[in-house]
Amino acid sequence: MVTGKENTQRTAYLTFDDGPSTNTLHILNILREHNVPATFFVVGNESDFARRVYQRIVNEGHVLGNHTYSHDYEKIYQSADAFMQDVIRMQDFLENTTGSRPEVFRFPAGSNNQVHRQVQTENPYIMVEILEALREEGLQYFDWNVSSTDAAAVTLETEFIIENTLYNMGGRRNAILLFHDSTPKTSTVEALPEIIQSLKEQGYTFKSLSPDSFYVHFRHLVF
Ligand SMILES: [Zn+2]
Repeated sequence: MVTGKENTQRTAYLTFDDGPSTNTLHILNILREHNVPATFFVVGNESDFARRVYQRIVNEGHVLGNHTYSHDYEKIYQSADAFMQDVIRMQDFLENTTGSRPEVFRFPAGSNNQVHRQVQTENPYIMVEILEALREEGLQYFDWNVSSTDAAAVTLETEFIIENTLYNMGGRRNAILLFHDSTPKTSTVEALPEIIQSLKEQGYTFKSLSPDSFYVHFRHLVF
């Protein structure tokens, strides 16, 4: 039996990786229309266009997250120092551009992927060092528990994104949803209104991520 608000509270955290692009602008318009906050894990782009997008994300009450400056595996996984140089470059760039220094971080491709496994055969402690350094920088990292599957193809059909996302929700009380807002992801934009509408009907409240939010970590520091 459901007895209190506590038991029925459902929260959805929409997250968008790899922007800014023109899709980011469309997404911002949709979020404004539906009055929903989100989190954007962005990469480094010094163009005037990108600077305006970062600023708009902040101005419209969304959260700007660090997704590394370069998103370049070869470069960032040379060492923990190389990784953190790239991360701090992004922190400084975003702070200088928007006045806001990110407190949330997402690893390119998540915190536990094939690249990490490969890198760790040569440097078993690199991820431990990176996780410690992120904590020192005041960055909490976030993986996800609901994939929109919009990375499964360059541009996945809109209908698939809607169906897969809603199916993958699986009735979770706390859902961190992974989307992408890089240039080819036009169908993600098209899928978004219906996904938001459906989640609202299911009773979800939308929040952006902060360091003390519910989190998902793929990586567990057990050796
Ligand atoms: Zn990414």
